[in-house]
Amino acid sequence: MKKLERRAIISLLLAAFLFLGLIFFCFRFVVNGSQWASFPANRHLFADGALDRGSIYDVNGNLLLENTESGAIYHDDQSIRKATLHVVGDVSGNISTGAETKFAGKLTGYNFINGTYAKNSAGRNLYLTIDANVCKTAYAALNGHSGTVGVYNYKTGKIVCLVSSPSYDPNQGIDSASAAEEGYYINRFFSAAFVPGSTFKTVTAAAVIEQMDGYENWSYDCTGSYTLGNDTITCPSVHGTVDFEDALCVSCNCAFANLTLSLGADTMEDYVDQLGLTNSYNINGIATKAGSFSFSEDHEAALAWAGIGQSEDLVNPCSMMIYMGAIANHGRVVVPQIVSAVKTSGNFPLSIYIPKPRTKLISSDTATTLKAMMRNNVVNNYGEGGLSGYNLCAKSGTAEVGDGTSHAWFVGFLDSEENPYAFVVLVEHGGSGARVAGSVANTVLQAIVN
Ligand SMILES: [Zn+2]
Repeated sequence: MKKLERRAIISLLLAAFLFLGLIFFCFRFVVNGSQWASFPANRHLFADGALDRGSIYDVNGNLLLENTESGAIYHDDQSIRKATLHVVGDVSGNISTGAETKFAGKLTGYNFINGTYAKNSAGRNLYLTIDANVCKTAYAALNGHSGTVGVYNYKTGKIVCLVSSPSYDPNQGIDSASAAEEGYYINRFFSAAFVPGSTFKTVTAAAVIEQMDGYENWSYDCTGSYTLGNDTITCPSVHGTVDFEDALCVSCNCAFANLTLSLGADTMEDYVDQLGLTNSYNINGIATKAGSFSFSEDHEAALAWAGIGQSEDLVNPCSMMIYMGAIANHGRVVVPQIVSAVKTSGNFPLSIYIPKPRTKLISSDTATTLKAMMRNNVVNNYGEGGLSGYNLCAKSGTAEVGDGTSHAWFVGFLDSEENPYAFVVLVEHGGSGARVAGSVANTVLQAIVN
C-alpha cells in the first residue's frame, strides 16, 4: 500500500512538472516567438542573407534601409548610413540592438497565431522616432571621437537623435573580427556604461536636497584640496567659499566630497537606485545596461570620490538622459521609445505611438530646485551658445579614466514647452566636458529646434 502511495505521489509530481513546463514554454513562445522565427538561421525567411521583409524609415519617412529580394539597400548618403547604423542595424545581426535584428518580428509581420506569413507578400514597414538628418549632424559633431549622443522628447518619450561612434559604412562593410574587438558593434547609448565624472554631482545634489536639513545655508571653503586620511580630493583651482548652488556651478570636488560624507554610503546607494541609474530600462524590448557603483562604508576618500562621479562609478548614457528628462518634467519620467509606427506596404497603420505611463523618480520640489541650479550653471558658467532663449539647463563632466585624456560629458535639457528635449553627450577621451561635449550638445540641439 505504502509503495502504491509513493508511486502515486511521484506520478503527480511528474505531471505537475510537465504542466509547469508547458506554461513556461507558452509564456516564452508568446514573448520571444518573433525572435525565434526571425533568427538568422531560419532559412524560410531569408533570401541571399537578407530577410524578406519590409523597410525601415526615420520619423520623417526617409528610407533608411530597404529589404529587397536581392538584399538590403541602405540610404544613398554615406553620412546618414554611418550616423544611423547602430539604430537601423546590420544584415548579419552583429549590432544586436539594431532595428533590422531587434525588430525583425515587426518587419516580417510575425504574430504568434499565424507566425510569419510575409514571404511572397509584402512585409511591414517600420517607422523609427529618430530624425536621420539630426543624427547626421550629431555624428559629424563627434568629429571622429568614440562616444554617443542621445536626445529625446521628455513629454512624449520619442528619441529624436541617437548616434554611437565608432560606426562604419554598411555598404563598404568592415572586418568583423577587428570591428568586434574595437567596439564598432556596440550601441554605446544602450549597451555600455562609463565613468560619469561631475555629471554625477546632479545625483548627489538630489540626495542633498531631499536628505540634508538646512542645505540652503550650508557653505564650504574650498582651498583646492581636501585631505581624507592618506588621500587628497583635489579641485582644478581654489574655489574659495561656495554655497550649494555655487558648488554645482563651479563643480567644486572638495565641496561635493564634504556633502557626500555627510550623506553617507547608504543614502548614496539609495539614490542611485531611486534615480534609475542601476536600472535596466526596456526601450521597445531593448534592455539598457544597468549602471554600477560602490559606496564604501569604511574608506572616506573612496566614498567621497564616488559622490563626485569617479571611483568605480559607471553610468549608462540612456539612463542618465532619462534622469535629465525627469528633472525637466517635474520629477516624472516618460520612458523613451525608438519605434514610432508599424505600417503595411499600403501605408495602413498597424500600430500607433502610445507614450509609456509616467513614473516618478524625484519629487516635483526637488526637480524644481535642481532645474534652477542647472539653469544657473549655464547662465553663470557655460554660456548659452546658439541656444539663447531656449532655457538650456545643464551639467558638464570631465571624467578621469586613467588611460589618457578624460571623457567629456554634457547632460541636461531645454526647459521649454515647445521644445521639451533632454540630452546626453559623451565624447570619449574628448577632454573638457563643458567645452567639447557642450559644443556637440549645442550644435545638435540647434539642429533640432531650428
Ligand atoms: Zn573646489
